[in-house]
Parts: sequence; C-alpha cells; structure tokens
Amino acid sequence: MTSFAKLGLNATLQSNIKVLGYKKPTYIQEKSIGAVLSGTDTYAIAPTGTGKTASYLLPILQELTQSDHSDDQVRPIRALFLVPTRELALQVEESIAQYGKGLKLRTISIFGGVRIESQVKRFKRGTDIIVATPKRLIDLMKNETISLNDIKYFVMDEADRLVSMGIHQELRAILAAIPKNSQKVLFSATDSKALNKFNEENLSRVKVVKGGSIQPALDKILHTMYRCFREDKNQHLLSLLNMLNSDRTLIFARTKRDVDFLTQLLNDNGYASTGIHNEIPQKKRTERLEGFKNGEFKLLVATDIVSRGIDINGLYYVINFDLPVNSNDYIHRVGRTARTKTSKLETKKAMATKAKNQALSKEVAAKNKPVMYPVPEEEVGIKVSDIHGHVYSLVSHEQERLVPLITKAVGKDIKLEPTPWKIER
Ligand code: AMP
Repeated sequence: MTSFAKLGLNATLQSNIKVLGYKKPTYIQEKSIGAVLSGTDTYAIAPTGTGKTASYLLPILQELTQSDHSDDQVRPIRALFLVPTRELALQVEESIAQYGKGLKLRTISIFGGVRIESQVKRFKRGTDIIVATPKRLIDLMKNETISLNDIKYFVMDEADRLVSMGIHQELRAILAAIPKNSQKVLFSATDSKALNKFNEENLSRVKVVKGGSIQPALDKILHTMYRCFREDKNQHLLSLLNMLNSDRTLIFARTKRDVDFLTQLLNDNGYASTGIHNEIPQKKRTERLEGFKNGEFKLLVATDIVSRGIDINGLYYVINFDLPVNSNDYIHRVGRTARTKTSKLETKKAMATKAKNQALSKEVAAKNKPVMYPVPEEEVGIKVSDIHGHVYSLVSHEQERLVPLITKAVGKDIKLEPTPWKIER
C-alpha cells in the first residue's frame, strides 16, 4: 500500500497526520489525493467513515500553501467547502485545524443559527478557506461580506444531500459566483441520479473515483430489526437500552417532537441523555454533540441532521426509533458506527460484548427467561471479531414496507424479528 509521502504530500501535512495516528492512506485517500492534486474536477463516491474528509482536505491544503497570502491586508478566499449541516461545518473546520497545523492558513466557518453580524466581523481581514452551509453563504454573498471571485477550489461534501435539499437556486448562485476555471471536487457516500445530472451540468473532464465496493463498512455492521406496535415503542426502547447496557448509544428519531419527548423519557429513566434537532440553537447543538462525544451524555437522540458525516469516536450502537423513509438515510445513520479510526477499539469492544453476552445469556437462561443475547455468529454470517457496529431498528407495522428498500440498499438480508422481551400492558 502507498504511503502519504508517495502520494506527494508535504512534510508538514505528513507530520500532522502522523500525530493523529494515521499510518497509511485509506483506500479512498489513495485514489483521490492524487486525483485532486492533478487539478482535475473529481467526483468521489466514498463510503461514510472511510476517511473521505482527509481525501479532499490534504491535497487542497497542500495546494493552498503553494502561494503565501499571509501578509496580504485582506486575504482572498481561495477554497470553499460546502456542507449540508452546521455540525459537519464545525467538524470540517476542526479537521482543517488538525491537518493544517503550522501551514499559516486561515479558516472561517459560516452557518445559520448564529448572529450574522458576528460572522461579518470575522471577514474583515479575509481568509484563505471558508467552510459553509449554503443558505448562510448566500446571505453573506448578498450583503457583500464575501466575494467568491478568487475561489480556486470548490468542494461539496455529502454532495448527494446538498443536491437533494431543495436548494437548487442557491447552488446555482454559488456556482455562478465562483470562477469557471476553479477546480470542483464532489464527495458523496451514495450515488444518485440527481447528483449525476448535477455533475453533467457543472463539472468538466471529471475524474470519477470509487471507494472500493459500494459500502464496505456495511460488511462490519450487524443489523437487527424488531417488529413491534407503534404504541409500545417507548417501552421497547427502554427494554432495548437495558439489554445493551452501553455507555454510548445514538438514537435516531424522525421528528423534533419525538427527539424532545424521548430525551425527557430517557432522562426520567436514569439515562444521561441529550437531544439534537434543527430548532435547537446552534450553540446548544454544538455543546450537546460535544457532551455526547466526551461521555457527559450516554445517549444522544437526534433527527437525521446528525446522520451525515458526523464522527463519534467509539460509537458501537445506533438505534432507529423509527426507520428513515429514505433508504440512503439508513446507510448514513448506520455509518456513524464502524468508523476507520475506531475499528480496533470496536473489535475489542465486540469481543468484550460477546463475553458479556454469553455470561448474560447463561444467567437469563438459568432464570428460565427467553435468551436475549447474543446474536450467534453462524446466524449473521460475520465473525464476532469483524463486527464494528450494531444497529437496532424498532419497526412498527406501518413501517414494514420500508424494510425491503433498506435491505436492498444495505445489500444483505435483514429479517424482521419479534422482540426478545415482553411488553407489560
Ligand atoms: P471520515 O470518513 O473523514 O469521517 O473519517 C473517519 C475517521 O477515520 C475519522 O475519525 C478520521 O480521523 C479517521 N481517519 C481518516 N483517515 C485515516 C487514516 N488514513 N488512518 C486512520 N484513521 C483515519
């Protein structure tokens, strides 16, 4: 396998990624770093959690250092990273700070939910890079805080989401504002018709890079679907959490109301929980995600705004309180587990879970209750040491029609099972 040095990255970048513990490039990094460095428009389909952020950041940071603007009175904005959510904007900004340490590049991230005036002020001295969500970017273009005339690199991360957000006009305005000869790079975990059409219209001489098989990380994830009645779901969720006994679980719910309700329910039941949806002020959203990442909260209940690109170290369990209507969203949700950096950790955890499960099932069997745990290897066709994440879905009868679509997207059969516990009525 190629090294980062062989891919042509400079010494500072190499040393920064070494500090982060990256020993060699991931498959998608190996394929796309060279493509981006060669200067062509690039469309990369990279499964979530396989290191795609570094795939575009490393070559672009390197390119940006080729000319030094650190003494300019107002720095020209040369790179624009467009992302669908505020959380992702902050995460990309953080990755730039880590990968680009010592490179003298300035980054500003802009997104809604915080006062526009404070963002305007930050642009006085200019910046080399902006990380932005589309709507706030448009606002700042309109009030002439930002000019995109000097953009050399334009990246759309989670591009399939960006083109399906119903913001065609905004995307058109952004593309019209950047120079025609700028390099355009699109990263997406899922391919889509809308995206292909977008590429045909907006990219030229595009190099397509595919991250190996469609979703390799999916091979490492166990999927369990429980059939249940809608009105019993709250109780099922509590039973499931009791069974998992985990110190870090992400729970997806469909509506903001469900997020608020479930967060309260879980706190009332003794779980340190918090919730995220798009009506919660940005400052709180950031604090809550941070609180979940650092262990202050054991449970995070969220809508799909957290399903894209968010990297949570050591996350093993994801619960779908409801199935997402769009099967691509299922892929993104489950992609919060089985992430590149956490693999080893997860393997250990999977082993520990297995040992715990065996002890637990013995105990349960002894009490003549149904055995809840574990999932036998031979049944799921994955060696326990290869499992890096486990996703549970509570499927009410109304949602059963979504199961075949999800099964197709995941690429393996997922059976609907009865819950291994009984509900008290
Ligand atoms: P991403 O797909 O960009 O969200 O990255 C998923 C996780 O993999 C993040 O925690 C990265 O820090 C980590 N990562 C990215 N590239 C590598 C690499 N070459 N070696 C080890 N970990 C990596």
